[in-house]
Amino acid sequence: DSRINEIKSKIRVVPNFPKPGIMFQDITTLLLDPKAFKNTVDLFVERYKGKNISVVAGIEARGFIFGPPIALAIGAKFVPLRKPRKLPGDVISEKYVLEYGTDCLEMHIGAVKLGERALVVDDLIATGGTIGAAIKLLERAGAEVVECACVIEVPDLKGHERLNGKPLYILVESC
Ligand code: 5GP
Repeated sequence: DSRINEIKSKIRVVPNFPKPGIMFQDITTLLLDPKAFKNTVDLFVERYKGKNISVVAGIEARGFIFGPPIALAIGAKFVPLRKPRKLPGDVISEKYVLEYGTDCLEMHIGAVKLGERALVVDDLIATGGTIGAAIKLLERAGAEVVECACVIEVPDLKGHERLNGKPLYILVESC
């Protein structure tokens, strides 16, 4: 699909950000190109339309960029999974391990109903810890996670192995 190569070409790689040794994959340059941004959303929509998905769960912060247009196009609701103490209502929380220390994702209680079919969306999967926590939140709420979708995968980190067997769909590998 020629759209994929164009998307990859629009992702800027920033060496040593946010710290030395990290090659940061910057999707803001993809957003500056309306055609490439639309193609990114369209590729996900083509995959998930008609699959009976009622929830798109987007991970803070960049899952909030790609998740909502996908949700609108497939007729699903959008549920934000946020960092601690951002959501005002009652939440369930899931901690996960980072390279140094831990982080946490939260979801509003009642946002997702028993038996709903959910898609998890983020911009990038590295170790898979973040998406793994998102899957746990949705499953604790009684949802079925149909698939996890990311624009970019960092291939050497084997993030898909932390997804508890859930399928992962990615558009491009990081360089
Ligand atoms: P993981 O939990 O899979 O190790 O890390 C993935 C999370 O960190 C995602 O929420 C993603 O947005 C963020 N992240 C880590 N590295 C990068 C990067 O190079 N570029 C972008 N855009 N996000 C990153």
